[in-house]
Amino acid sequence: MKRILVTGGLGFIGSHTVVELQNTGFNVVIIDDLSNSKIEVLDNITEITGKRPDFHQIDLRIKKDVQAFFDNHHIDGIIHFAAFKAVGESVQKPLEYYENNIGSLVYLLQEMRNRNIDHFIFSSSCTVYGQADELPITENAPTKPATSPYGNTKQIGEEIIRGTCKANGLNAIALRYFNPIGAHESVKIGELPLGVPQNLIPYITQTAAGIREQLSIFGDDYDTPDGTAIRDYIHVVDLANAHIAALQRLIDKKNLNNFEYFNVGTGKGSSVLEIVKTFESATNQKLNYKIVDRREGDITAAYADTTIANKELNWKTEKTLEEALQSAWLWQKKQQTS
Ligand code: UDP
Repeated sequence: MKRILVTGGLGFIGSHTVVELQNTGFNVVIIDDLSNSKIEVLDNITEITGKRPDFHQIDLRIKKDVQAFFDNHHIDGIIHFAAFKAVGESVQKPLEYYENNIGSLVYLLQEMRNRNIDHFIFSSSCTVYGQADELPITENAPTKPATSPYGNTKQIGEEIIRGTCKANGLNAIALRYFNPIGAHESVKIGELPLGVPQNLIPYITQTAAGIREQLSIFGDDYDTPDGTAIRDYIHVVDLANAHIAALQRLIDKKNLNNFEYFNVGTGKGSSVLEIVKTFESATNQKLNYKIVDRREGDITAAYADTTIANKELNWKTEKTLEEALQSAWLWQKKQQTS
């Protein structure tokens, strides 16, 4: 069976993808520097799948460590999650973001080229579209200039991969994620935000749990039906399965170009208020919230047209928004008790 390297494999999306990879029969090797993840996640993955993935604590910014890893391991493909991901922080620390997100990518691609390793899946983001002129967003929508160093690392990352595929015959797929939420049904893995959550769903679950006093809804004067901003929230397990589908497409040589990119969302947009209401009804919790000013840099609406991804990846989402929010809530409660 193919041996797949998953960088950032102990993180939120990475850990769910490792579980799905192992359940599909792939052998998994994880590299993670534990900068935004916990080693316990490895035990939890093992409990879910019954198989302990090979794990290496490596900082991908250290080129000689990356080389040494590949000297010692045969790898058939890479799913690359490891990156910094906080938009606001990236504005404060652009060089750290460029060094980590771009440096690591370059080192991995160099090893792939030097050792003839094919099959690369890249974590990209719908932020590459900015505020799209047309909704839902198709893959044909133009990319817009990035509004943060984080967003820029995703755009530059895609360009680096595109150029490498062209020059070196590598095959790669970038998955442009919309908003991943939720947790595994076993409630053994989920999102572990450090400090005050920046994202909506962990802020909601922490508010419901009494850790945060009140949710601030950033703006109710957007040009949307209820005035709050619209996003496409996708269950993390559905998102994880898109990676398996993309990897399989490359292994089966079904890709039409050696660099492809797909939108990974549900196709359905939900406003912040709709999320609050759905959370309340799906979990039977009352949420304390207030409306405050818009958050700088936020766009009005983004949701995916998933037609191309559904067809080309032979993949579709299977979980509902209610299930995603319920799983996020169960995960939150588990954190209090463990
Ligand atoms: N949001 C909010 N309150 C929060 C966090 C987020 O109202 O405490 C809103 C945010 O303005 C956006 C949506 O929720 O409209 C999703 O934000 P998130 O940061 O989760 O993802 P983004 O789409 O910004 O990457």
